Amino acid sequence: MGAMTKEQIAQYKDVYVFAQQVDNELSGIALELTSEATRLAAELDDAKVVAVLLGSDLGSDLTDQLAEYGADRVIVVDDPMLKDYMTEPYTHALASVINEFKPEIMLVGATAIGRDLGPCVSARVATGLTADCTLLEIGDFPLKAIPGKEAEQKHKQLLMTRPAFGGNTIATIACPDNRPQMATVRPGVMQKIEPKKGAQADIIKFNPGFEKNAKYVEIQEIVKNVSDVVDIMDAKILVSGGRGVGEDFTLLEELAEAIGGTVSCSRAVVDSGWKPKDLQVGQTGKTVRPNVYFAIGISGAIQHVAGMEESDIIIAINKDEDAPIFDVADYGIVGDLNKIVPQLTEQIKAA
Ligand code: FAD
Repeated sequence: MGAMTKEQIAQYKDVYVFAQQVDNELSGIALELTSEATRLAAELDDAKVVAVLLGSDLGSDLTDQLAEYGADRVIVVDDPMLKDYMTEPYTHALASVINEFKPEIMLVGATAIGRDLGPCVSARVATGLTADCTLLEIGDFPLKAIPGKEAEQKHKQLLMTRPAFGGNTIATIACPDNRPQMATVRPGVMQKIEPKKGAQADIIKFNPGFEKNAKYVEIQEIVKNVSDVVDIMDAKILVSGGRGVGEDFTLLEELAEAIGGTVSCSRAVVDSGWKPKDLQVGQTGKTVRPNVYFAIGISGAIQHVAGMEESDIIIAINKDEDAPIFDVADYGIVGDLNKIVPQLTEQIKAA
């Protein structure tokens, strides 16, 4: 991947987001990224927010929603090839959009789809990718630190921050010599803006020409994750259990039912095979931001805290008064969860 010249870099403009949709419904990450793009664009000179919507038979409600969350322009690629996610057609479509429109910044959600799509597209358009970012800022890239580059101080780079080495360090990465500056971003981290009802975006229909470039692969069957349980990223109250709870989560389920919450857990619980990965909170699980987070029998390892510290109220129950979870908790109860949790459930039911 060779470095671009300054003249080439100058051709790239605006902040683009991949507006992920599944079954003609925008994913939460699409609106989070569009919101984040409005904040980044405000830091750049004359930059627009552009959403890229790929799919088949896409409804106008999707473009309306993207406009309400800050998109000035929506580039729509509507083709039967894009009905369900497949790596090659989606890579071809998004890479073609990048080659045609030249975005300065391209954001993709770090979802199962985005983690596949992002690297394929960045390789196709020969730029770098910072994966799983938790913070994006516009700032100066400190080239002064690199011998021979002192004079080349460049401004207004996208600074992409992500945890590294198991969350023990935080790395801030820039892509000063290539465009677009590309990142995948963790779902649940970026705050959505207040939607502006009735906002309108320019719609651009784009045809990347599939016939010549892609071979149609028949999808035999798509198995959907059918569950009536609320996604822990959408839950307002989470009752989260750790290794201290053990295999039997009945006490936590009863508390969750009494308080109208949803059960989640630490990685130790998932690794022990007691709960599915879907319920894991933390750096390698989901980032959650509920109104109330109960951390029960959870020690509070840095990788767990990374996924729940933005909760409005954190209530920790742990028998070890020195457990690090108490450092982030708003309310702490020191004691045996087997005694405290049933009492709490009774009190809530009686209230
Ligand atoms: P433990 O650390 O074993 O803590 C159990 C707690 O329960 C203790 O504090 C104990 O005092 C308390 N306890 C025991 N019995 C009782 C009782 N009867 N009543 C009250 N309290 C009791 N972890 C995550 O959670 N999410 C992640 O996404 C994640 N990602 C990781 C990524 C990497 C690269 C690495 C290296 C680690 C990651 N981890 C993650 C693991 C993390 O480091 C911890 O090992 C894990 O969070 C510990 O889970 P725990 O708190 O449930 O268990």
